[in-house]
Amino acid sequence: MQEKYDIIIIGSGLSGLVCGYVLSKEGYKVCILEKNKQFGGCLQTFVRDKCIFDVGVHYIGGLSKGQSLNQYFQYFGIMDKLKVQQMDLDAFDIISVGADREEYKLAQGHDRFVDSLSCQFPEEHKAIKTYSKMLQDICAKFPLYYLDIDKAYPDTFSHLGLNARDTIKSITKNKTLQAVLGGNNLLYGGDGDVTPFHLHAMVLNGYIESSWRCVDGGSQIARLLVKNIRKNGGEIFKQKEVDRFVFSGSEIKAVRLVSGKEIDCKQVISSAHPFQLNRFVNGEKGHLRKAYLNRINSIKPTPSVFSAHYTLKPNTMKYINSNYYHSKSKDVWNIVSDNAKNWPTAYLALTPRTSKSEIFADSFAAMTYMEYSEVKKWEKSYNIVGDEHYRGDDYEIFKKEKATILLENLYLKFPQLKGNVTGIHTSTPLSFRDYIGCPTGSLYGFERDYNDPMRTALAVQTRIPNLSLTGQNVNVHGILGVTVSGILTALNFIPRKKLLSDIISA
Ligand SMILES: Cc1cc2nc3c(=O)[nH]c(=O)nc-3n(C[C@H](O)[C@H](O)[C@H](O)COP(=O)(O)OP(=O)(O)OC[C@H]3O[C@@H](n4cnc5c(N)ncnc54)[C@H](O)[C@@H]3O)c2cc1C
Repeated sequence: MQEKYDIIIIGSGLSGLVCGYVLSKEGYKVCILEKNKQFGGCLQTFVRDKCIFDVGVHYIGGLSKGQSLNQYFQYFGIMDKLKVQQMDLDAFDIISVGADREEYKLAQGHDRFVDSLSCQFPEEHKAIKTYSKMLQDICAKFPLYYLDIDKAYPDTFSHLGLNARDTIKSITKNKTLQAVLGGNNLLYGGDGDVTPFHLHAMVLNGYIESSWRCVDGGSQIARLLVKNIRKNGGEIFKQKEVDRFVFSGSEIKAVRLVSGKEIDCKQVISSAHPFQLNRFVNGEKGHLRKAYLNRINSIKPTPSVFSAHYTLKPNTMKYINSNYYHSKSKDVWNIVSDNAKNWPTAYLALTPRTSKSEIFADSFAAMTYMEYSEVKKWEKSYNIVGDEHYRGDDYEIFKKEKATILLENLYLKFPQLKGNVTGIHTSTPLSFRDYIGCPTGSLYGFERDYNDPMRTALAVQTRIPNLSLTGQNVNVHGILGVTVSGILTALNFIPRKKLLSDIISA
């Protein structure tokens, strides 16, 4: 570790790594500090019974040649080294809602998406076309989404005030189609009363452009970025939890680790959950306004989830190149609020893709919402890969019961699982809390609210002149959203035209 860095980055999630890559490439002396024993934040994977499980990346959108994420990853020098598989062109997601046994397929490519869904809703062809165009139009309002470097931000922000559920309702009166278009809203923690349409659009549009599964898990993205950051001369350290900032006047002059060590720097970028800003300024008055900290503390987090990973008898379950989203009710916009009384109201189910076999899956994964209150009684315990503490027998029993209930639900759609599950490994809101550093294990950070979009949006620059923010709370969550967030933060240091031209010409 050096005496002094140009830039210290807190956190090695995707946003921290993106900033670290860009800034080290541009010649800054960069140091990334990560509290966990593994780099990557939500990109981490873990291994149980020789099977690889993802913490937080099931599929990635917009990765085909010519699409934005592909271009960003080319610039990071990782695209050609990634082990990924494109998902089923005719069905990256398969949606089912309520008692309706019909399964609805979402296809890749806007034309194919419109044509394929129109086969299942022949009367709704025009509405589906309108929907597809609206997704693209709203995404085009964010210049970095399509890497449109000459485009300025729009003059008005009225597009941020559209509600996802109501906008879809305005496009089609067909209730089943409405439910299908919102049926994978676990992807963005959809809540009918608050979720903005642009959030729905940015997430869905990426997957409609193209959908990809990481082979052997998403941690490869972090590994490749770490390697390239080091090649650029950047430094990155595990198990270095930042506790607070040390100030000289109004500026940060060093960060202090939990160990007590102080590391000097000229600038700080934090990708840690903004709730931690309070801790970092350590109650010192004047650095950040009270109103700002209160606003951060009062923004509702997106819900958390329960994930179950079922290991399987060899060669019993075929790999499925699609994700399944099932909701017990057609009322897909109330899944979160209905969840406690009807658990699990909805789930995402999938077979991870491994390099062991193209034909068979070695495990099966499912994810469903879970309230933090369900696990609150164990909140004093802490557990991450490499730093494992037993939370207690009652916690293990609780998890097993939940995984069994979820499995009973899964059998209805995946009878081939019956008799073939050899082991169950689960993650609860506490696991996500410990991996991500957000107090309630929130999936995607702050909940975005179309009623007051500016209240739930954070700027990159803070009132502390040499502190910038990055990560899913600054822009949008997800691999593309967080990549853009990292780039937005890097633009605080590098001229826009230069950086964006470099990315486009990579
Ligand atoms: C269950 C789940 C499923 C998901 N599925 C998908 C998917 O299929 N596709 C997709 O595109 N996106 C998915 N996402 C979202 C995506 O993974 C995230 O939006 C993205 O990875 C977040 O990146 P980040 O850099 O903002 O934050 P994080 O990955 O949370 O990184 C923050 C880092 O900061 C570290 N940190 C925190 N505090 C400190 C401190 N005090 N000192 C040092 N380090 C600290 C943390 O340990 C962490 O490593 C999923 C997320 C979850 C949780």
